[in-house]
Parts: sequence; structure tokens; C-alpha cells
Amino acid sequence: METNPFDLTGRTALVTGSSRGIGQALAAGLAAAGAKVVLHGLDPSRLELSRKALAERFGDDRIAAVAFDITDEPSVSLGVAEAEEKAGPVDILVNNAGIQHRVPLLDLAVEDWNRVISTDLTSAFLVGREVARRMLPRGRGKIINIGSVQSDLARPTIGAYTAAKGGLRNLTRAMAAEWAGSGLQINAVAPGYIHTEMTQALVDDVEFNSWICKRTPAGRWGTVDDLTGPVQWLASEASAYVNGQTIFIDGGMTAVV
Ligand code: NDP
Repeated sequence: METNPFDLTGRTALVTGSSRGIGQALAAGLAAAGAKVVLHGLDPSRLELSRKALAERFGDDRIAAVAFDITDEPSVSLGVAEAEEKAGPVDILVNNAGIQHRVPLLDLAVEDWNRVISTDLTSAFLVGREVARRMLPRGRGKIINIGSVQSDLARPTIGAYTAAKGGLRNLTRAMAAEWAGSGLQINAVAPGYIHTEMTQALVDDVEFNSWICKRTPAGRWGTVDDLTGPVQWLASEASAYVNGQTIFIDGGMTAVV
């Protein structure tokens, strides 16, 4: 019988920052492809709402949840252990959780710089290392880091975010350099401007909206649904020989000036 290389049945996925936003949509996409999913966030009550919503769609036995701070090393170790206790060995990790902080570099306090770097970059190292320690002896695993067009391009007022997302692109390569030989695939997805609750104000800003639509060859904002297919692919056997890559899902924005 032919098998579907995109099928994730029997796989367990941990998606950081999936209590809301893009992470929640990616988690639902992985569950739709057959995976058991561990949702994650910081605020336990918001996380529980997300767990209930996905459990209604995919069944209680397919959706678990763990809350932990991705910037704190001991919490990461305990949190990943709890995820595996609840849902079995993690086959797929999506390092999605992240924050933004908009201030010009000249006004950026070092505390805010550190907070953004720690949440958007160091966390992927901490959670990725903890999960890889468990994947490597098993000889297989998928790690997908969520970058941004700022993994490649800069814009005023988001210097720390740009540095973190650029760093994430090279961390993806560094992980592949060390772990690809042991059966792991580590790649990144870099979304362009995505229409979410968080970006609704920018969509409603006529000037900004028209700039985005002109600057993007596809002529529109992205949607969370535009991201789920590429993440399903990178989480599946269909991408078995893809390693260290950052795939831009941006309607062509980073391909043109
Ligand atoms: P949201 O702000 O909607 O959600 C952020 C998630 O991260 C929440 O689940 C939050 O948990 C969690 N989180 C934040 N800090 C921590 C922490 N210290 N420990 C544990 N969990 C934490 O984010 P988006 O959906 O907008 O973005 C998701 C990812 O996509 C980010 O990496 C972002 O950079 C990237 N991206 C987003 C784009 C967009 O247009 N929105 C475009 C390009 C990239 P809690 O709910 O408990 O606070």
C-alpha cells in the first residue's frame, strides 16, 4: 500500500506559543495532518482555552497542554519532560513563541533588548537543545523555527527583533550542522506580513495597508492558513532531505526590491 509522506499520524508535536495567534493555527494544522499536539504558552488560563477549543475539534486524546517560560533553563527542562509524560516522545518541535518591541535603537533600553533576544532567540536554543537531547538517541526528529521577513530584512524601530530573527536563521543552520547527521531535520519558516488579531490595526491603517499590498508581489497580506501547509511539509517525511533552510512565506516580498 502506498503511504502518504505528509501524514503525521502517530507523531507528537510540541508547538511553543500555541495558546493563541499563529502558533495556535500551526498546532491545529499539525493535528489536522494526524499528529498528537502539545500546546504551550505562559498564561495557564489562556492555554486551557486553546486546549479546549482544539480538543473539541480533534479529540481530547490528541491535544495536551503544558505551560512554561521558554526563557528560563530549568523551566524548559521540566516543561519538555512534562510534555513527553503527557503525550509521548516529541517528534516535532515548532519554536514559535515570540514577542515584538517597537522602539528606535537610540531609545532602546538594554533590558528590553535582552528580553526580546531571550524570548525570540535564546528560547529556541534552550527548547531546541532540550528536545534534541531526547531526539538524537532516537535518531529522528523535526525542529521548525519560526523566523520572519526580518530574518533577512530590517525596518526602523524593531532592531532587537531583527537581530533575534536574523540570529534564528543562523541558529537553524548551526543546529543542522550538528544534528542533521543523526537523522534530525532542522528548518525555519519565515512568515511575511500575516493578517492576525495582532496586526489588525496595521491592516486598518490605510497607508500601511496600501504599502504592504504594493510591496508584496502577491498583492495581499498573508493568512495563518498560508503558513500551515509549509509547516506540515517540514514536519513530515516529505521534507526528509531538507535541512538548515529558511523558507520565506511572504508572497514574494523578500524576492523583490
Ligand atoms: P502572539 O503574540 O499572538 O502569541 C505569542 C505566543 O508566545 C503566546 O502563546 C504567548 O503565551 C507565547 N509566549 C510569549 N513569551 C513567552 C514566554 N516567555 N514563555 C512562554 N510562552 C511565551 O504571537 P504571533 O502569533 O503574532 O507570533 C508567533 C510567531 O510568529 C512569533 O515568533 C513571531 O515573531 C512570528 N511572526 C509573526 C508575524 C505576524 O504577522 N504576527 C509575522 C512574522 C513572524 P501567552 O499567551 O501565555 O502570553
